[in-house]
Amino acid sequence: MRNDDVEIFAIGTELVTGLILDTNSHWLAGEVAVAGGDVRRITALADDFDALTAELRAAVGRRARVIITTGGLGPTPDDLTVEAVAELAGCGIHTPRDVLEDYARRRGISLEEASSPPRLKMGTVPAAARVHLNPVGWAPCFMVQVEDSSVWCMPGPPREVQGCFRAHIQPVIERMFAGQSARLRVFIDAHESETSPLMQSVMRRIPAAYLKAYVGMSSPEGLPVDIVVRSEDGVAPKELLQQAYDEFCAVAAESGKTVTMEAPAGS
Ligand code: AMP
Ligand code: MG
Repeated sequence: MRNDDVEIFAIGTELVTGLILDTNSHWLAGEVAVAGGDVRRITALADDFDALTAELRAAVGRRARVIITTGGLGPTPDDLTVEAVAELAGCGIHTPRDVLEDYARRRGISLEEASSPPRLKMGTVPAAARVHLNPVGWAPCFMVQVEDSSVWCMPGPPREVQGCFRAHIQPVIERMFAGQSARLRVFIDAHESETSPLMQSVMRRIPAAYLKAYVGMSSPEGLPVDIVVRSEDGVAPKELLQQAYDEFCAVAAESGKTVTMEAPAGS
């Protein structure tokens, strides 16, 4: 039977040789959890065709529901993710015309100029893929369904990962796990260092809960914290969310802090 696992693959030789820190996986893991998904495995791989196909095939064999990859979609020949995913899906590769038309429109150039060899390579995707244009870069994001797994691929630059994930993948994951998860944004009148042990305490007592604080978004209402729960043992997500919220309020009160619901827009 298919499982509900989400797996993340960080692809790039620079990652496994220690030249670049894999920040994409860290960022994505937090975002997927907040969207209600359950990340079970993070893998970093070199740009090696055989390793890529073998490891992605293994994830499909584990029946991961969602596989997210970053990297390997660049213009240089060492970027092999498209070829590896096409092999996995048993299809060829092609360059959709609307991707090149998007390049031409955004740069104000002709279709011929938009079809230079590096841009052609960046616009090439597996023939079986559903393509989603990249809101902040060139190589598009794409999704290929392979057996039980939706394989989502994004370019490597973190800014593009964030833009593509928010535009195309986050809404899909939220819908996919909507029946199994619930979330709530609250505010606490405390600093991160004070909030962190309180969040840990809630997560220890309610293992189905995941709490994430947004330090960069602190406001007069306080520090925003997302509470996300995934249902377990048939307990409804709403019920678990209420338990986690009550627990967070209780541990906050013990420390003289107050948790409030998000202020209504415009207030
Ligand atoms: P690529 O799509 O493979 O051509 O990646 C382009 C650039 O994105 C790389 O040279 C890195 O600087 C950056 N990058 C790729 N993967 C990651 C990652 N997992 N974390 C942080 N930066 C990355
Ligand atoms: Mg690369």
